[in-house]
Amino acid sequence: MDYLLTEEQRMLRDMVSKFAKEKIAPVASENERNHRFPWEIIREAGELGLMGIAYPQEYGGAGMDFVSYFLAIEEISRWCASTGVIISAHSSLVCDPIYRFGTEEQKRKYLPELLSGKKIGSFSLTEAQAGSDAGNTKTTATKVGNKWILNGSKLFATNGAEADVFVLIASTDPGKKTKGVSAFIVEKDMPGYRIGKLERKLGIRASSTAEIILENVEVPEENMLGELNQGFKVAMVTLDGGRLGIAAQALGIARACIEDSVKYAKERVQFDQPIANFQAIQWMLADMWMEYNAAWLLTWRASVMKDKGLPYSAEASLAKLKASEVAMDAARKAIQIHGGYGYTEDFNVERYYRDAKITEIYEGTSEIQRLVIARHLLK
Ligand SMILES: Cc1cc2nc3c(=O)[nH]c(=O)nc-3n(C[C@H](O)[C@H](O)[C@H](O)COP(=O)(O)OP(=O)(O)OC[C@H]3O[C@@H](n4cnc5c(N)ncnc54)[C@H](O)[C@@H]3O)c2cc1C
Repeated sequence: MDYLLTEEQRMLRDMVSKFAKEKIAPVASENERNHRFPWEIIREAGELGLMGIAYPQEYGGAGMDFVSYFLAIEEISRWCASTGVIISAHSSLVCDPIYRFGTEEQKRKYLPELLSGKKIGSFSLTEAQAGSDAGNTKTTATKVGNKWILNGSKLFATNGAEADVFVLIASTDPGKKTKGVSAFIVEKDMPGYRIGKLERKLGIRASSTAEIILENVEVPEENMLGELNQGFKVAMVTLDGGRLGIAAQALGIARACIEDSVKYAKERVQFDQPIANFQAIQWMLADMWMEYNAAWLLTWRASVMKDKGLPYSAEASLAKLKASEVAMDAARKAIQIHGGYGYTEDFNVERYYRDAKITEIYEGTSEIQRLVIARHLLK
């Protein structure tokens, strides 16, 4: 599908592919197994401009487009889905709302260090009772003088243990649900802020997933992001872009499954011939490739729409829903093609299988994506 890309996009993709193969691939399994955040990779990604691909150079970004960003997340996730989500959550869920909804002062204060990867970002929307029902926020922000006092706890924050800067949603008008929440920029050094439980997870174990506890955290009034009681809008617009990051992550996992399966099918001999000779294996590979291509095209289309400034919310949901289901199915088939060896840690496909599952859950479950798509059709 190279002909759909500009020369600049192809060059970026090839550069990221080389970086990922040389630097990420060799340590991916070990980091994942040891729940180890890949600091050195994230620092180097920052030096290469990968922590701020689709942001203007005047704020320290690489000045490229969103298609380039999705290509980069796919290439990185091809080798390590944990690294893919670390960069995606940082870029899509933190840099994007600050860039889109931030005041000039907020952009100048936060973006240069975030876009260069010197600081890491995390997005805190979810709470115990506010998962798919994201507007049911119980964390409160109360205005006292020229400060907001935040109290409550957030769950499942990707990069939560490492982040310096948080985009966090809190209730500013309790009882009004989606119409009474606001977004804030919170820094980890603000007194009263602390990290709670770190989740032990099925997959993407090299990325952290943390509880964030807020006890009388004093946030300066100038750190409100967007307008008062407009936090739900900030979160939903942010998640549209985030879903394309997750679609790209899922595409990377699916491609890993396909490439590893093709290699294995050619090498593994049973009944005196490579298993690639068997039609059952060929059909699985063909189906994996067909589905990957469909998901890639949906993700590319939504990314082009985003770059053109067109509404793309339903298209982002289509891309995320398709790509995540394709990744899950490709991982299941990849293990089948690898037989018993695929079930062991000697091959990467077991990691792909564990990693693929989360793409059907975070940034809106598959059921919520179907809801968004159906609403769009029926409106
Ligand atoms: C590893 C990981 C990383 C995450 N990272 C972040 C992050 O960085 N920031 C953040 O804020 N959150 C994050 N999350 C939270 C994630 O977005 C939520 O887990 C997800 O949105 C689902 O919410 P829930 O877990 O409460 O499930 P629930 O909302 O309780 O859903 C349970 C089931 O009910 C279904 N369901 C719920 N409502 C409906 C409905 N109306 N119609 C049909 N079915 C429905 C769901 O689809 C699902 O199958 C992360 C989660 C994980 C596991």
